[in-house]
Amino acid sequence: MIKILANDGIDPVGKALLEQAGFVVDTETVPQDKLVEALKNYDAITVRSATKVRKELIDQVPNLKLIGRGGVGMDNIDVEYAREKGVAVVNTPAASSLSVAELVFAHLFTGARFLQDANRKMPVDGDTQFNTLKKAYAKGIELKGKTLGVIGFGRIGRETAAMGLRLGMNVIGYDLYPFTGHISLTFQDDISVDIPVKTVSFEEVIAESDFISLHTPFAAEPILGAKEFDQMKPGVGIVNCSRGGTIDEQALINALDSGKVAFAGLDVFDNEPTPLAAILQHPKISLTPHIGASTNEAQERIGSELASLIIAHFTK
Ligand code: NAD
Repeated sequence: MIKILANDGIDPVGKALLEQAGFVVDTETVPQDKLVEALKNYDAITVRSATKVRKELIDQVPNLKLIGRGGVGMDNIDVEYAREKGVAVVNTPAASSLSVAELVFAHLFTGARFLQDANRKMPVDGDTQFNTLKKAYAKGIELKGKTLGVIGFGRIGRETAAMGLRLGMNVIGYDLYPFTGHISLTFQDDISVDIPVKTVSFEEVIAESDFISLHTPFAAEPILGAKEFDQMKPGVGIVNCSRGGTIDEQALINALDSGKVAFAGLDVFDNEPTPLAAILQHPKISLTPHIGASTNEAQERIGSELASLIIAHFTK
């Protein structure tokens, strides 16, 4: 009987699929320092981003046959090492793209109409300062017709591009690997329109965009720093739902304070789970605590996709 420890939880749909296939699934979370002992009783472990599966752990549980990551980034798993040792590593890269792209637009709509500041100030001052606040937020902007720059034109970047196109935005993208092709926009499940899209240069995205959204993997050096903010259009909006480290946070604060950048929407931070206070308290920053993939729909897709991958591995 195959036993699986879903150490960071698994959606009930995924758990049910595994159980129907005859697998045993335990969902209680074993603390990191107790995993060596616990894993001796399991054939597979599934994790999200919390549990780490490093070399030392892999070395001490030779019975482990598979590591499953519900989601995209595998920064918490020593993937190459595991595979060298004959442990399969699987993930569900596409399952959360739509949810992350929708969160990007939640931040864009928020920044374009000052919602982050209104939500902070109205509960405190709204009863006495209503008309002052009304004036302060009177110069909102529409997204339609504006240029959205997407840096990192992979799964989530393209889903974000699709959403921008649906809203009537001009979309330009940049990727290390240039892309020329179509993005399919589906309406009401049965109407589909293919829009031709190709990536442009990094410089063009930086200089031409009214809004810039980052969708690259973790980078050792920030992709957006003081030099790039200088070269952007005045009043640009920045969204980061990719990984902490891709933006120089101090340079972003300076650009927000100078007015060069009008607003930012951040789901990811340099120092998770304790981001800089200057970021958390900034009136021009809309904040979410790394919840890009945290929707019921994405978690259900992640759970069922992970279950299918695990079943396929053990029944092949
Ligand atoms: P992906 O691999 O499909 O796409 C990433 C793209 O970035 C690739 O096309 C790659 O060529 C490109 N790229 C890499 N380095 C680049 C650089 N320096 N400049 C330009 N392009 C570069 O990945 P994805 O599934 O689209 O995920 C994108 C990011 O979103 C990842 O960092 C992932 O960890 C993150 N993510 C965040 C959340 C969240 O909760 N906020 C959820 C899921 C994924």
